[in-house]
Amino acid sequence: MITNLHIATTLGLTVIAPLVYSQPAGSQRPNIVYIMSDDHAYQAISAYGGRLKEYAPTPNIDRIAATGMRFNRCLVTNSISGPCRAVILTGKYSHLNGYVANEDQAPFDGSQQTFPKILQKSGYNTAIIGKWHLESEPTGFSHWEILPGQGNYYNPDFIDKKGKHTENGYVTEIITQKSISWLKEAMSAGKPFMLMMHHKAPHREWEPGPNELTLYRNITFPEPETLFDDYSGRGAAEKTQDMTIEKTLRIEQDLKLYRDKSGMKNTGLGRMDTGQKMRWDEVYDPIIRQFYESGLTGTDLVRFKYQRYLQDYLACIAAVDKSVGGILDFLKENGLDKNTIVIYASDQGFYLGEHGWFDKRWMFEESYRTPLLIQWPGKTAPGSVNNDIVSNIDLPETFLEMAGAEVPSDMQGRSMVPVLKGKTPADWRKEHYYHYYEYPGSHMVKRHYGISTERYKLIHFYYDIDEWELFDLQSDPMELKNVYNDPSYADVKKDLYQRLTGLMKKYKDSDTMAKSFLPK
Ligand code: CA
Repeated sequence: MITNLHIATTLGLTVIAPLVYSQPAGSQRPNIVYIMSDDHAYQAISAYGGRLKEYAPTPNIDRIAATGMRFNRCLVTNSISGPCRAVILTGKYSHLNGYVANEDQAPFDGSQQTFPKILQKSGYNTAIIGKWHLESEPTGFSHWEILPGQGNYYNPDFIDKKGKHTENGYVTEIITQKSISWLKEAMSAGKPFMLMMHHKAPHREWEPGPNELTLYRNITFPEPETLFDDYSGRGAAEKTQDMTIEKTLRIEQDLKLYRDKSGMKNTGLGRMDTGQKMRWDEVYDPIIRQFYESGLTGTDLVRFKYQRYLQDYLACIAAVDKSVGGILDFLKENGLDKNTIVIYASDQGFYLGEHGWFDKRWMFEESYRTPLLIQWPGKTAPGSVNNDIVSNIDLPETFLEMAGAEVPSDMQGRSMVPVLKGKTPADWRKEHYYHYYEYPGSHMVKRHYGISTERYKLIHFYYDIDEWELFDLQSDPMELKNVYNDPSYADVKKDLYQRLTGLMKKYKDSDTMAKSFLPK
């Protein structure tokens, strides 16, 4: 381990600098602060542009884009919470790390190799604070304090080494405070540190905090072009899912428009204390009254639901954005900003009404692409934008290389360090492999796997159906037209089959169910 004393001796200096962290970047191993939210769509980050940019800006998250690199195509391997988290820890696809789905899933096997364990062994102080969602006890962290399961927004429970306890307040703010407290200890411990600050927000059921309750109360957001998608031109999977704003999004539990307030008792909102509840009711009671008086139906009702959904979802994100600002300010005020890498990401992408949907799971862009912003002072050019295909499976190897730790050969991603330095290797990946398993299950999205290149996407929906879909993102960026049976794509199809088979072999995806359906 390189210590301050070592550096001073090597350089033949007679004076030893009093603070380890006041060293200029490059002279010591960097700290890593990985901030991850849950279900934060890139469409809801103003640094990514998009239709909501002017309506719900994220100025603090955008600071990371301004000082670092914005990734436009960070693709996840299996678009759902637990599996994404397991991939980020292990650098291995779901079928190898064992965590393939959220439902009917054994707890994460914490005895396996993870990047925090390797960092810890190489001398890093490691912590995870916030959402864990792997049902096991965290391993590889010198400090951990996690939410049980999905956690709660108001007065949440936390689990640490001593057991479970309840904290008063709003979850996003509490996770931030706990993270700052830990950073204060870590900065004087004489070791480089790695913190994973994992927010619950903006996960369903999108309960805004006391400080953001009225933020978007009177804002009308622009609708996506595909809010009323009828799934024509595509197959059974798109037509049979259960995740539309129209049919699946619930007026009471999701939009919190309780006609009878007793229904709130057994939800996260039932945890509010009298003061929090009073504040909540002041905002929601008039909306509830107006809604039940309006008698909305049909497309008017869908439009209303979309607006309510976004008002709450984006208000949850506003608190996350403040949290990011709090962490960045803390690092700067304490002289840590020059030698701390800050990453902002979501576990996966999300639908904000595109295709008429909320939720995730699909290999379509909105859920397949996750936001990723990285600031690495002195290494990554400020305000840089990257269009390479990177993936959440690349993160652990990236963190290990950043830290100068050993990168195990059995991790399946690739370090993004050269990419971050603006020097993407010529042999960087041109294709990405995806596999989603949770069916039957919530939202009834059929199992599927596939390959994505810069331009094309070949997807196979299997298990109780056997349907292939091919999309040309250049002519059809919104993925509305399956061209699998279009003869003009015969050569493209053939090429993609071959490459897909190659990826399955490369990643050792032994799912025989999927393989048996591969075209001969
Ligand atoms: Ca998620």
